[in-house]
Formats: sequence, structure tokens, C-alpha cells
Amino acid sequence: MAAPWEDVLQNEPAIREAASVAVDAALLEGVLMRTEREPNASDVVSYAPFTLLPSAVPSALFEQAYAVQQDFNLLVDAISQNKEFLEHTLASTIKVDDFTAQLFRIHMQVLEEGLAQSVFLGINRSDYMFDCGVDGTPSLKQIEINTIAASFGGLTSRTAAVHGRVLKVLGKSKEASRLLPNNPSKGLALGIAKAWQLYGSQSAVVMFLVEEVQRNIFDQRCVENELWNRNIRVIRKRFSDVFEKGSLDDAKRLYMDGQEVAVVYYREGYVPKNYDQQNWEARLLLERSRAVKCPDIATQLAGTKKVQQELSRPGTLERLLPGRAEAVARIRATFAGLYSLDMGEEGDKIAATAIADPDRFVLKPQREGGGNNLYGEELRQVLEKIRDSPERTSYILMDKIKPQPAMNYLLRAHSPLQVSECISELGIFGVYVRQGKEMVMNKAAGHLLRTKAIEHADGGVAAGVAVLDTPYLV
Ligand code: ADP
Ligand code: MG
Repeated sequence: MAAPWEDVLQNEPAIREAASVAVDAALLEGVLMRTEREPNASDVVSYAPFTLLPSAVPSALFEQAYAVQQDFNLLVDAISQNKEFLEHTLASTIKVDDFTAQLFRIHMQVLEEGLAQSVFLGINRSDYMFDCGVDGTPSLKQIEINTIAASFGGLTSRTAAVHGRVLKVLGKSKEASRLLPNNPSKGLALGIAKAWQLYGSQSAVVMFLVEEVQRNIFDQRCVENELWNRNIRVIRKRFSDVFEKGSLDDAKRLYMDGQEVAVVYYREGYVPKNYDQQNWEARLLLERSRAVKCPDIATQLAGTKKVQQELSRPGTLERLLPGRAEAVARIRATFAGLYSLDMGEEGDKIAATAIADPDRFVLKPQREGGGNNLYGEELRQVLEKIRDSPERTSYILMDKIKPQPAMNYLLRAHSPLQVSECISELGIFGVYVRQGKEMVMNKAAGHLLRTKAIEHADGGVAAGVAVLDTPYLV
């Protein structure tokens, strides 16, 4: 699955010229990020890191990833409505993982009170790598599905133009014309707009719940702009603002500074460091409200690693999606081996296997955002230490995916231009809207390709490891 530019990779003058064109094109197209030094100001900004060249992606696997996205939307939505499944699946995890336990407590509390929310909006991103089989044939394997704050749907819509320019500069106009258009932020905004409309109050706003540190604001602005273009008012608030100024009326309508909020779109709230006591209280207030939360807390729980692992058990998908055998088959085909570390014989056995052969596995805690997983020797040491303690149930084990690396240049501000051996991860954005029991929208909204040097086992773009890329279908 080599891309047709192997010939130019070692042509240093051509690469240098292309790289300087690429950086200017990225700035012109708006592939932007705030700087590490000034993460909350836009006076001086830089480009978000990206590859010099698009990466080859097998077209059959690309199509497979798109084709299964609506199934994943249905699955996540079904899990979020299945109280017993979430309760049973997370029972062991919440005994040892405080963060998941706190989310779960809020989930149970709002269910007990009775859900005020009747319109549901899901925006997720299912991520995959191309596992290289023994005979060299790649297959599509899901890494995870992100059900909260799935990012880069905005910036990724601008990379194809940059890579098109680079290919032209390198004398590859025909290849440039084959790059696919892609605009997830528009699809995301259409979902938000639909939820806003169904909420049914013309004067209500959409609230982006944002982090204290906002380096990736331009990615969010892409979605925001699509909403303003549809005359939907957007406000940006932090948990601390909600704590100070948020309130519910008798009908549990949510108000911020006197403005009614129709939709809360979380770009925050997925890691423990996002929360102190006040922020947990703010989260609870939001969850109790009738505003459409994207995601509601049940959908966030549906995206935990523990749920992902339990889905791979025989019979589970069939129970969650009754009467949908084809969807189940499409979903299952993307699963890598996933293993529970719950206390008992099954967990003992797989822990011993992983300790004996750590390079076959990835050890994953219930965390998001990159940089949390354990590999190789570190995996072995940690697992050895916790193998007899319930602490192990806060993790899951997963087969390690081994993609075929390809050479590329990763462009990053203040970094030398050098060729790296790289692997890529493809994400497909899913959007759905449900009103009561009825699905009124279910779509795949676009894609994201992220690429990193093979020496990094883990980490996304925000974590400073992966960079934005554009798929070139082969
Ligand atoms: P997070 O929620 O932190 O993003 P992920 O499950 O996506 O957690 O893992 C983070 C990164 O670790 C992925 O982007 C990928 O690079 C790597 N990774 C995760 N699972 C695997 C796997 N099974 N095989 C190989 N690499 C993996
Ligand atoms: Mg991830």
C-alpha cells in the first residue's frame, strides 16, 4: 500500500521547498493552533502539526470504516439507554476507578430523578488502525470509540487543500486531484442544529463547554461558525462559569446568565483533571437539566474502555442490537482481541499470558486523551505488581495492532525537517439525533487521519505526538 511519491522522499531540495509551501498553505487554509506559550490568546498563533505528504490508506478499509459508522452510532445509543448493561459492565471498574465511579453516580442520580432530557445528540469518532496480517494483508481494527469531545473535525477539513498544494509543487497534479473532500465540522454542526431545532426554543443558545486551556480553539470555531451561519447563537463557557451562573427553572430548563441553553456540547470533562468539587456540581446541574447534552453522561460511559472490552464477548452485541445481525457482523469484524482483567480465572490466565509476552498486548486504564496506555516492559512490570489485586480491574488488555509503517515528514513548528517511519490512525465521525425513541438522524460525518512516528507507542495530536494527515486511497 505504498503511496506514489516514494521517488521524491529522498530528494532533499524538493522536500525543503514543498515543506515551506506546506506551512504557508496550512496557515492560509486555517490549520491553526494556539501556541504552548499563549494557549488562551490568538495574538500569535501557529499551524497545527501535520504530515508533509498524504498517507496511503487502502480504499477497501476506508470504505469499510465508513460503512460501519451508522452501526456504531446505533450501538452507542443502545448502550446509553441500557441501564442494566452499564451497571453490570462497570460494576467491577467503579469499585477501583474513582473517576468512572463519579460519572456513574451522576448517571444513577439523574435516572432516579427521571430524565428531563428528551432529545439526544451523539457525536463520536471511531478510530482504527490497519493491522498487518502474517501474509501482509491489512485489516481494519478499531482502537476505540470516542463518545465525548471527539476533536479535529474542524481542522481536518482543511488538510486536503494543503496536501493538494504540496503534491502539485512536487509535480503530482494527477494525484492531487484524487484527494477526497472532507468536512466533518459541517456534519457535526448539522447534528447540533437538528438537536437545537427539536429542543424547540428559537431564543435558546448552544453552549460549548470548553477547557481552561484552549489551544485547540480553531478546531472548535469551525463547528461554531457553521452554527452561526445557520443563525444559531453559540456561547463558550467553562465548568466554573456554570457553577457560578448556571441555574435550572421549575421545568429543569437550563439558564446561563439568563439565557436559555438548548444544547450543551462538551469539549471538556473527559479526564479527572477537568474536575474539582465545584466542577462535579456543575456537571450534575447540566445532566439534570432538560438541555440536550452532547453527550449525556450515559453516552460518555458507553465510551469507556471497559464497555469496549465487554462488547467483544460472544453474544453481547446480539443482545444490544436485537434483530440486526448484519450490523453486528460489520461491527464485530473491526474488533481486535480484548480481555477482561476482572478477578477470577479468566483474568488470572490472560494476566499471566501478557506478563509472559507483553509485546502482544496493550494495557489500558479507563482514561482518555492519549499517553495513558502501557506497553512492553512497562506493561509487564505494572501487571506483575497488580496481578493479584483488585486494582487490575481498572484496566483492560487489548491485542496490539501492528500496522505497516511508511516514510513521511512530520511538520511541527520549531522542529527540524527529517524523515520518520510512521503509522496512521483513521477516525470516522458519527452523528446521530434521537427524539424519545425515534432516531431522526444517523450519519457518518467525515474522517480524520492522524499519523505518528513509530517510536511513540501512544498519544494523539493534542498530546503532541500525532499530526494531522490526509488519506490517499490506494
Ligand atoms: P485514548 O483514549 O487515550 O486516546 P486509545 O485507546 O485511543 O486511548 O489509545 C491511545 C493511542 O495508543 C492510540 O491512538 C494508538 O496510537 C495507541 N494504541 C491504542 N490501542 C492500541 C492497540 N491495540 N495497538 C496498537 N496501538 C494502540
Ligand atoms: Mg484515542
